[in-house]
Amino acid sequence: MPILVMKFGGTSVADLDRIANAAEKVKREVERGYDVIVIVSAMSGKTNELVRWVNETSPFYDAREYDAVVSSGENVTAGLMALRLQEMGVSARSWQGWQVPINTTSAHGAARFESIPRENIDAKFAEGFKVAVVAGFQGLSPEGRITTLGRGGSDTTAVAFAAAFEAERCDIYTDVDGIYTTDPRITSKARKLDRISFEEMLELASLGAKVLQTRSVELAMRYKVRLRVLSSFDETDETSGTIVCDEEEIMESKVVSGVAHSRDEAKITLFTIEDRPGIAAAIFGPLADAGVNVDMIVQNISEKDYDDDHPGAVTDMTFSCPVDQVARAKKAMEEAKAGGKINYEELIIDTDVSKVSVVGIGMRSHAGVAAKMFQALSADNINIKVIATSEIKISVLIDRRYMELAVQTLHDAFGLDRAS
Ligand code: ADP
Ligand code: ASP
Ligand code: MG
Repeated sequence: MPILVMKFGGTSVADLDRIANAAEKVKREVERGYDVIVIVSAMSGKTNELVRWVNETSPFYDAREYDAVVSSGENVTAGLMALRLQEMGVSARSWQGWQVPINTTSAHGAARFESIPRENIDAKFAEGFKVAVVAGFQGLSPEGRITTLGRGGSDTTAVAFAAAFEAERCDIYTDVDGIYTTDPRITSKARKLDRISFEEMLELASLGAKVLQTRSVELAMRYKVRLRVLSSFDETDETSGTIVCDEEEIMESKVVSGVAHSRDEAKITLFTIEDRPGIAAAIFGPLADAGVNVDMIVQNISEKDYDDDHPGAVTDMTFSCPVDQVARAKKAMEEAKAGGKINYEELIIDTDVSKVSVVGIGMRSHAGVAAKMFQALSADNINIKVIATSEIKISVLIDRRYMELAVQTLHDAFGLDRAS
């Protein structure tokens, strides 16, 4: 039997009626002749609630216990989905991560897949079961403890299963009907794309477009998984949604193909640090050890360049990270200072910034995108605090209150509402 992977996100399983609606879609695919692996998220809002409970109980928590708590939302929806399918006459069995087992690294809160042995689920299909419902987001560490894959991780579970089971397709059902030129909740001018390249989706996802978890796109690209995003609320068929595919399969090619945003960023500046070899390592080593995901980094030019004649040169170092990691970052820097590893005059923290980025494969061969982006932002009087570029993206850090405006402005400036 051909295998299909169907993933339902939080809003698609938010209550019993929605689980029933999703189960109908699964039943239809079973009737079309597929053995189906269903990956479910927790009910919408559930994981946030669990994360809050962990933080309220223990602000610098033990990550093993964090995973024990926050993985639990998926257990409920997996069981309920299997029960609903059984009620509809579809033979289904649920699986928690450890039962498959979904083997991962022991990086709690951000674990990576090691292997997904097929035997147990294949045996159930061989017995005549038509659907395996798997709890997304979770896995099992080599030490035998529950792990989670990072927020939005059920997308990655889905793609990993599609790769492991050589599924015909991996359908990601969500609360929008595809991938858009930007988040459709920020501008009604956002345009749905029929196709998007793995590379562009990878950038958009890593820059904040949470419609797919970054790692899921990486895995789909590596294992050539046919990946599709579509609505769990609309009637859907083979042609619905957006396909994520190789660049060669795409006809439309704009210089900029999408705008992404990441709302809850923070900017941290270490003011007046020594400018000497090893200072960056002394700052970013402890941050990494504390689990802080540093994103943009800017080091000011020193007044005097470091050399043997200027041992006293000083500079400033600025970096960005997610707002909810600021407490960890601050603690790591204060401890490094107390331990004599670094010495700054002041630690300046700005928790009111967002990142807005434009992405497009066409930027590889077109100049002028940065100039156009900065002009558009300046026309709206939006001040840019930090800039970062790569081959196919430009990102800026700006005041959070201007985030929506910046997205809309850039979407207009690059003509993304028009098909060509
Ligand atoms: P799920 O719970 O189904 O995993 P998510 O909330 O994680 O859903 O992802 C879907 C959301 O992603 C949409 O509701 C939309 O607001 C957001 N989003 C951000 N950027 C985009 C984009 N470019 N195209 C479509 N949706 C986007
Ligand atoms: N429930 C998890 C989260 O909210 C995983 C997911 O939905 O993909 O992050
Ligand atoms: Mg998601």
